[in-house]
Amino acid sequence: MTEELMPDPAVQVAGAQEIASDLVVIPNHRVQLVPNIGVIGGTQAVLVVETGIGSANAEQVLAFASEVAKGRRLYLTTTHFHPEHAFGAQTFAGHATYLVNRTQADDLKAKGPGYLEMFRGFGGSIARRLEGVRVPTPDVVYDDGYDLDLGGRTVRLRPTGRGHTRGDQVVAVPDAGVLFTGDLAETGQFAIFPWFPPYDTDVSGVRWLAVLDRLAAADPRVVVPGHGDIGGPRVLADVRDYLRELRDETWRRRDSAMGEDEIVAEVRALLIERHPEWVGRDWIERGVGCLCTEHAA
Ligand SMILES: [Zn+2]
Repeated sequence: MTEELMPDPAVQVAGAQEIASDLVVIPNHRVQLVPNIGVIGGTQAVLVVETGIGSANAEQVLAFASEVAKGRRLYLTTTHFHPEHAFGAQTFAGHATYLVNRTQADDLKAKGPGYLEMFRGFGGSIARRLEGVRVPTPDVVYDDGYDLDLGGRTVRLRPTGRGHTRGDQVVAVPDAGVLFTGDLAETGQFAIFPWFPPYDTDVSGVRWLAVLDRLAAADPRVVVPGHGDIGGPRVLADVRDYLRELRDETWRRRDSAMGEDEIVAEVRALLIERHPEWVGRDWIERGVGCLCTEHAA
């Protein structure tokens, strides 16, 4: 990943869209390392979902949310510990209550510093955006689930169990039928497998599939993926279908005792042929690696 290939991951608050009453999404415009960001309002309080990477992005998000809030109390949550989702949270300190699930808080503590170093190592605009950034510490940590009452609107924060990371959390707004999935769903790209053995092997293709089945069963009307275009239930189904084909094509070859390099080459070629318009092709190889280790499971 070089600077030429990685555009500046700048959040563009000017592009914010109201997708339901008092529920705004700042879309990522398909820019890598920019997440879709949510600002969800009730009569008493406003919840921000994701910060963008680094303080400058987070300052813009905080300013935007404060304008929306007009004096209402602010909360912040993040769907998982990855830098573009959570590494702006320190900017919200003193302005918002930062609330996450326990496994995500554990991920932040255990893996946050390593990811900060790794992302600084990408150089260029990403390193600049991470200058002065500290791994954030949540104000409130919950265990099984948290119903956040914003006033006339209750938002459900739910840990999903291991999928894209160990500490994934989804955010549901039941009155509007909206679900923020974090990186358990992406559109227009191959699913992100942060499979970096021996440093990080928490992603699980098998568990991720099970999580998607559970999320789809709740039948959300609007799905806001971690990255890419907002859509309906089809967003979840498309990621599920892709993970299934990645799993099946990998395991079929593993059954015939093919070596991992050859599996990667064949599955990569096949999936690019099936999804020529998707970006993030390097995630195929990582996904194959992950699913090879899950083959016997
Ligand atoms: Zn992620």
